[in-house]
Amino acid sequence: MSIEVPAGILPGEHLHALRARLRGDLLLPGDDGWDDARRAWQLTVDQNPTAVAIPADVDDVAIVVTAARRFGLRVAPQSTGHAAGALRSLDDTILLRTSRLRDVDIDPAVGTARVGSGAVWGDVAAAAAMHDLAAVAGMAASVGVVGFVLGGGVGWLGRSHGRGIDSVLAVEAVDARGRVLRIDRQRNADLFEGLRAGIAPVIVTAVTLQLHPLAEIWAGGLMWPLDRAADVVHAWHAWIGAVPDTVTSLVRVLRFPPLPDLPEAMRGQQFVAVEAAVHADAEEVAALLAPLRALAPTVDSMRPMPPAELATVHGDPPQPSPAFGESVLLAELSEAAVAGFLDAALAPASGALLSVELRHLGGALTPDVPGDALAFAVGIVPVPEAAPEVAAAAKAFARALDPHAAPRAMKNFTERPGDPERIYGSDLARLRTIVAAWDPEQVIAAGHPVLD
Ligand SMILES: Cc1cc2nc3c(=O)[nH]c(=O)nc-3n(C[C@H](O)[C@H](O)[C@H](O)COP(=O)(O)OP(=O)(O)OC[C@H]3O[C@@H](n4cnc5c(N)ncnc54)[C@H](O)[C@@H]3O)c2cc1C
Repeated sequence: MSIEVPAGILPGEHLHALRARLRGDLLLPGDDGWDDARRAWQLTVDQNPTAVAIPADVDDVAIVVTAARRFGLRVAPQSTGHAAGALRSLDDTILLRTSRLRDVDIDPAVGTARVGSGAVWGDVAAAAAMHDLAAVAGMAASVGVVGFVLGGGVGWLGRSHGRGIDSVLAVEAVDARGRVLRIDRQRNADLFEGLRAGIAPVIVTAVTLQLHPLAEIWAGGLMWPLDRAADVVHAWHAWIGAVPDTVTSLVRVLRFPPLPDLPEAMRGQQFVAVEAAVHADAEEVAALLAPLRALAPTVDSMRPMPPAELATVHGDPPQPSPAFGESVLLAELSEAAVAGFLDAALAPASGALLSVELRHLGGALTPDVPGDALAFAVGIVPVPEAAPEVAAAAKAFARALDPHAAPRAMKNFTERPGDPERIYGSDLARLRTIVAAWDPEQVIAAGHPVLD
């Protein structure tokens, strides 16, 4: 590769020279398609990088990283931009969108998937389902595989199969010097350990995932009008104390806005809901759900489904959205924490939020996720002027749960730059050493960086 430029100088023609070297695209401000290329899934974030690279293959990734280093620029890898709010400034940065590296190859003989780093969970779930296999995926089909696993990754198979990162067998990547690497427990093992703890001082180009034999799972939701919230939340709390690890569930308060494109039964309505995924046969499911069904839900959508349909259960929007979320990892799901959740969920300020929820953790997530439950609040910001009210409501919800907080925060649910000590805990010093060794010039710009 020959893009010879004096270090630290960035005349526009060097970026044009870089563009000419790529099989994929490099967009600069003002180019046709610039706004689409820089747009994150999280629409409240306005990304203004120096350029956007959309590599067509691994060679392109290596060329971009090598050139950026020579130009004195950083490279921010991004798949969907769900976590765009966690990135620092994109000044002097090439945003590298992985959207074209989206191949998914299933090896049914060993039950694995090799997944390009631009793939989202919907891609993997659909391909795996063809072989009666399931991935430890996120709850939303639109979430990127790589960003999800780098944040641990907790979905509907969490309590039964662990975190998303626990299913990662190997990683292919380009490092900050443009070298193509294979990373697993044997090769570049320090990087593998770092990736498992949530850092990526490399550009991931593909991951190999262990899939799990699973053709069908019971899942869905039970819903009641909001005035049943106290009964339902307390009943759910008692219920999760008795269920096996084959049950992953959450309780939530939902307030749907009066939008015309919502189904009439939801439009402008408020509910308390329990959503669950259960590995069991119909008889066992009926026995397990009996205590909740005794509360006479007005909606009961629990049914057997292929795992690829799990992404419909939580009802996350399939398209880019402007949202503001706050989370608190709860050390222990005590009576006091549940009462705190109920008070916060029913507080008038929470009327500005679409959903507040408590996700039951534990099971196979223990001890890697150091808490019993995750409290999460999210509101849609329909117009920029609504942002202060939605943000204040989400923050008030999180403050109310703070007395019950674990010392750690969950990376995937920390939507803006957070305290690295809380995100990485006692791993932080070791992770800083790994980043300093692999990317001493900090060419790779990651969300929630460990170095300043
Ligand atoms: C609607 C919605 C639902 C969600 N549901 C869940 C859920 O059920 N469970 C859960 O655990 N989380 C969930 N999340 C959180 C989500 O997992 C994180 O936001 C995650 O970081 C998104 O990954 P991404 O690749 O889509 O995002 P991106 O913003 O594209 O990437 C996030 C970060 O990952 C790193 N990264 C991405 N690609 C690469 C790469 N190729 N090489 C190196 N680093 C890379 C970068 O640091 C990047 O800033 C949800 C988020 C949303 C918005």
